[in-house]
Amino acid sequence: MKSLEIRNLQKTYFDPYAGTKVTAVQDVSLDIREGEFVSVVGPSGCGKTTILNMVAGFLPATGGEIRVGGRPVKGPGADRGVVFQSFALFPWKTVLDNVGFGPKMRGVPKAERDRIAREYLALAGLSHAADRYPNELSGGMQQRVGVVRALANDPDVLLMDEPFASVDAQTRMTLQEELTRIWQEKQHTVLFITHDVGEAVFLADRVVVLSKGRVMRDIPVTLPRPRV
Ligand code: ADP
Ligand code: ADP
Repeated sequence: MKSLEIRNLQKTYFDPYAGTKVTAVQDVSLDIREGEFVSVVGPSGCGKTTILNMVAGFLPATGGEIRVGGRPVKGPGADRGVVFQSFALFPWKTVLDNVGFGPKMRGVPKAERDRIAREYLALAGLSHAADRYPNELSGGMQQRVGVVRALANDPDVLLMDEPFASVDAQTRMTLQEELTRIWQEKQHTVLFITHDVGEAVFLADRVVVLSKGRVMRDIPVTLPRPRV
């Protein structure tokens, strides 16, 4: 695992319809230590997804710098794993092949990537779903596979953008507990984005409150972690 440093990050979009510029991220600095779990909360439109997409390397910043383990990063890389709100699984691949996709892209041979995929599926209690296709699974199950797929790539930093927003409340609680359990075992450095303050506090060591593209508060969660 590695640290994530976000320094004076800035993003200005051009709105072609209005012919004006929109500054979505003003000047955001944020340090996440190795193995630390940080939630970013804030209302819709405050810049959460823009920050995550820049950290993931999907979107160029108009200012500032992002470092993983002290090394500046530009563009996407296997050092940062991403979990999206929508499941984004390959529908034509089995669960096992979806989870093994990252290792496949890194050239890991079939037998070894199947072994890795099975290990991570077991960690999430999903061994029984290995040979299923995504459309045979519930939304909650698909999202669990999405999380497992990001983890199986062994990223230094895990970036999550409202990963549990589109599942029902009961499933969301199960997923939160499962993520906590996996995090306690693997100790990933996590940047977790949500508009749900309860979820932010339940999961994280620190909660960063964002408003209009700026960091308003940066609050340590001092309560002991719940046992799950
Ligand atoms: P959040 O994830 O907190 O809801 P976003 O990062 O999606 O916020 O958006 C932040 C601001 O940037 C909003 O005002 C949004 O309308 C604007 N924005 C986001 N994406 C674009 C884009 N591609 N072009 C222009 N404006 C955008
Ligand atoms: P694997 O080697 O892990 O089994 P592949 O990437 O070779 O996976 O794809 C498996 C199957 O999915 C193949 O039949 C291939 O033709 C099909 N496939 C691959 N990419 C796409 C795509 N973008 N859209 C639709 N089908 C695809």
